Amino acid sequence: MPDSMFSIPDPVAIPVVGAGSTYPVGRIFCVGRNYAAHAAEMGHDVDREAPFYFTKSAPNAILTGATVPYPPGTENFHHEMELAVAIGKPVFQANSEQAWDAVYAYGCALDMTRRDLQIRERNKQRPWDLGKDLENGAVFAPLTRATDWSPEDDKRIHLSVNGKLRQDAKLDELIWKIDEIISHLSGFYHLRPGDLILTGTPAGVGPVQAGDVIEGGIDGLQPIRLSLSDAE
Ligand code: MN
Repeated sequence: MPDSMFSIPDPVAIPVVGAGSTYPVGRIFCVGRNYAAHAAEMGHDVDREAPFYFTKSAPNAILTGATVPYPPGTENFHHEMELAVAIGKPVFQANSEQAWDAVYAYGCALDMTRRDLQIRERNKQRPWDLGKDLENGAVFAPLTRATDWSPEDDKRIHLSVNGKLRQDAKLDELIWKIDEIISHLSGFYHLRPGDLILTGTPAGVGPVQAGDVIEGGIDGLQPIRLSLSDAE
C-alpha cells in the first residue's frame, strides 16, 4: 500500500458520561421539521408524511464549550436545539424493537443553520448544504448511555441565548419518535456505530450574533454551550 499523500484530522470524538472511551463522529443525519410548532413557524403544515433528512459532514462537527467565529455568507445565523441519538450497533431495515436496541446513547446537540441560505435554496428547490452543512455547524455535548437515560416521558428541551429563553418544549412533542426515525432511516442506510441522528428542533429558532452565548439542555442530559466571536 502506498502512503497517504496527506493526513486529515481525526474525527471529533464525543465524551460519554461514565465511560472510559469516547464516541467518534461518523455520519450525521438530521431530521427536518419534527416538531409541529417549528414546522408551523417555518411556514409548513404539520403532517405525517414520511420524515425527511439532510446531512452534515463529520469534519464540520465540534464539541460543546467551543467559541467559533460568526460564519461567512450569512446575515441570519440561527440556533436549533436538538436531541441527538448515537447508534451503537449495525442495524438495517429495523423494526421498533431493533431500532431501540441499536441506540447506544443520547446527547444534546446544536444544528446551527445559515437560515437565509437554507430558505433561498429551499425556495429554488436546491439542496440545503450551504445553509446546513457549515463549518462548526454541528455541536455535540457529552453523551449519556441509553442504559442510563430514556427519552420517554415529557422531558424538557430548551435553549437560551445570553440567558434569555428562546426554545422550550417537551420531547413528547416529537412528531416522529426515535424508533420510528431509526426504522425509517435504516430502510435507506445500513446504520452503524458512529452514526448520529439529530431528531429535529422545537419552535423558537432565531438569529444569533457575534458575542452571543448559546446554552441548551434536555432534562437528565449533559448541557450544551456555544459562544460566537466576530466573523473572520
Ligand atoms: Mn434541525
